[in-house]
Formats: sequence, structure tokens, C-alpha cells
Amino acid sequence: MIPQKLYGITGHPLGQTMSPLLHNWAFAEHDIEAAYMAFPVTPERLADFITSVRTLPLSGVSVTIPHKEAVMAHLDQISVRAQTAGAVNTLYWDNGKLSGDNTDIAGFLAPLQTQAALRTFSCALLLGAGGAAKAVLAGLQELGVPDIVVANRRHERAETLADEFAVKTVPWEARNTVGADLIINATPLGMYGANVQESPFNEKDFRACAQHGTAYDLVYNPLQTRFLAEAVQAGWQTIDGLHMFCGQGIEQFRIWTGIQLSDTAVRHCIANNLR
Ligand code: NAP
Repeated sequence: MIPQKLYGITGHPLGQTMSPLLHNWAFAEHDIEAAYMAFPVTPERLADFITSVRTLPLSGVSVTIPHKEAVMAHLDQISVRAQTAGAVNTLYWDNGKLSGDNTDIAGFLAPLQTQAALRTFSCALLLGAGGAAKAVLAGLQELGVPDIVVANRRHERAETLADEFAVKTVPWEARNTVGADLIINATPLGMYGANVQESPFNEKDFRACAQHGTAYDLVYNPLQTRFLAEAVQAGWQTIDGLHMFCGQGIEQFRIWTGIQLSDTAVRHCIANNLR
């Protein structure tokens, strides 16, 4: 099959991104003659890269760290969701206009909106205040969670983010005093590598919360992190980070092709390729 359309992901460094696997698998599954490549681009070359997107043109681009905010200045239009999150992770064409959207929010919400997980949360505690935390906060507000608290190792960063979304903060050292029923790990603690044995919350912390709730880890490699293992020991429900990763990719593919991929099939494809 000779590809007729070109897609890709840009970021720096791109390392072990699973996005090419997801999208090339989906193109093949649906007999779409397209290819999805990795385009590592340094921040200084982002403007040149966008010129290439317009001239080649590329039919769609996934955008990741560190370009999610900087790319916004180079686009013709930006969706409401991306404006709310203050970040773009998806480029697509809309009537000749290079457009930006944020599918991380849909990805984050996907597992919380399935029938099995459907419940209302009274208080969400967000651990971390980096790039992913913005999509989480936008998602939590879309979900209508009434009480949202951010804790971050560097407290001033939590305050800046909390001001942006009009939510509360708690010092990192006091994160186990919040009593949340939804706790989200948006730090790299628990990821393969130096942090794999770490968790921002332990079994005792989960037990100290007034009620059993849901622990949601954004980390997906490994699938079973220490954070989720400690939550299970305390009787909590868990959601692993692969749900969000698959959800954002499924939404990107829908924007680009109009095709709704099966969550189970995508998850199977990616999970089989995690180390
Ligand atoms: P980021 O922008 O680099 O932010 C990292 C956050 O983690 C910061 O708040 C940072 O705190 C905190 N942190 C880092 N090391 C820490 C430590 N040793 N102890 C406590 N806090 C620490 O990263 P990001 O893009 O937000 O990503 C965060 C995590 O989410 C990563 O593991 C990433 O792989 C995952 N993620 C998953 C998905 C998905 O689809 N499942 C999507 C995006 C991200 P300081 O501000 O104090 O440095």
C-alpha cells in the first residue's frame, strides 16, 4: 500500500512514544493509505516545522512536550477545549485552516464516563502541576467535580495552576489530609526508570480518606504502578494511565478520519507492546 497521506507526532525528545504504533495500526485496520511518523523538533525549529506542516502538507499532527503551549501561536484557530486547557495536542485541517484541539481532556475523561466507572465525585485531589495537570483540571471541571485540590512538590507551581482554574491548593506535605474520593497521580512517580518504586500516596494515606474512592494514575508504563497497588490494598478502585493514552489517541483518529476506534482493540494493541 502506498501512503497517500502523511501524519505524525512532534515533540522533543520523542523517546519511546507509542503514538506511531497506535495510528499506523489503526490506518492498517481500516485500509487507509496513510503513514504516521515521528518528527522530533527542538523548540527553536517549531516555527519551521509548522511551515512544513502547511506546505507538504501534513494531514494531522500529534503535539507533545515541550510544544503543547508554544504551538498555539502558529495556528489559524483553536478549539474551546484547547483554550480551556491552555494547550494543544492535536493539529488538523478545518476548511483549509490549520486548527488545534486538545484530546488529552477527552482521554482523561473517557474511563470516568464508562458505565462501570460512572459515579459522582465530591472531592478530587490532583498530585502534580505540570503539563498533563492542565488537561486533568479542565476535565474535572467539565465533569462538575465540586471540590478540586492541587498539591505539587513546588507549591508555587500548584498556586499558579490553581489560580488559572480557580481551584484550591494544599502543601505537598499535607496532601494526605484532603479526604478526596478521586486522587490523580500526574507526576512521573511510579514510571519505569529511577521512579518505578515510588508513589505520591501510600496505603495509609488512602485509608485515611473518609471514604473509598478511585485512584487514577496517568503513568501507563508500567500499567500496575505502586500508586495503584497501594490504592487496591486500601480497597480503592483504580484506573491506569493507558486509558487516558488510548482515549486521547482514539479522539485524534476520530478528528482526522471520522472513524471511532474500539477502545478494547486499541488498548490490546498498545498493552502488547509495553515492555
Ligand atoms: P511535567 O510537565 O514534567 O510535570 C511533572 C510533574 O510531576 C510536576 O508537577 C513535578 O513537580 C512533578 N514531579 C516530578 N518529579 C517529582 C518527584 N520526584 N516528586 C514529586 N513530584 C514530582 O510532566 P507531565 O507532562 O505533566 O506528565 C506527568 C506524568 O503524566 C508523566 O508520568 C507522564 O508520562 C504522564 N502522562 C500520561 C499521559 C497519558 O496519556 N496517560 C498523558 C500525559 C502525561 P515540580 O513542579 O515540583 O517539578
